[in-house]
Amino acid sequence: ASALARAESLIGSIPDYPQPGVVFRDITPLLADAAALRATIDALLEPFAGGFDVVAGIEARGFLLAGAAAVAAGVGLVPIRKAGKLPRPAASVSYALEYGTAAIEMHDDLPRGTRVLLLDDVLATGGTLAAGRELVHALGSEVIGTAALLEIDVLGGRAALGDAPLHSLFHV
Ligand code: 5GP
Repeated sequence: ASALARAESLIGSIPDYPQPGVVFRDITPLLADAAALRATIDALLEPFAGGFDVVAGIEARGFLLAGAAAVAAGVGLVPIRKAGKLPRPAASVSYALEYGTAAIEMHDDLPRGTRVLLLDDVLATGGTLAAGRELVHALGSEVIGTAALLEIDVLGGRAALGDAPLHSLFHV
């Protein structure tokens, strides 16, 4: 527990980034610390142990967690990318941002019924992880759970994720 408490203390809060009035949560000091990273990955995976076939990470910071998590769990890794980056046939889901929309994509090659653990760094409004879930479902796979390093509780993103288990390690 002390390694996790230390990990939490390594998440920075950067005022007015990327724009005035926004407090950006910076996980890079946590990632740079070996013991904090190890404890974080283990704790993120713990509720889902043995229950998934692949980890899917959402570009870009979700990738940082997903690579480590996949190796730690002994499963493969599937990238969910911003639109236009994948070389082979992919499914796409659009979602609303504060201003405008974004789209994320995933290759259409997972066996149907694959059990996917979806990972991202921060859960804010929930739009990104909700789109990720929709994408996995559209490709005939199952989201057995969703995990985020940090949940910003006041934004209520949890409600956007429906009934699949959501595990947020830290909260602000
Ligand atoms: P949401 O779609 O839940 O509103 O926003 C979550 C997405 O935006 C995640 O992919 C996350 O990487 C990024 N994000 C939003 N706010 C922050 C933040 O304060 N810190 C970091 N590291 N990422 C954020």
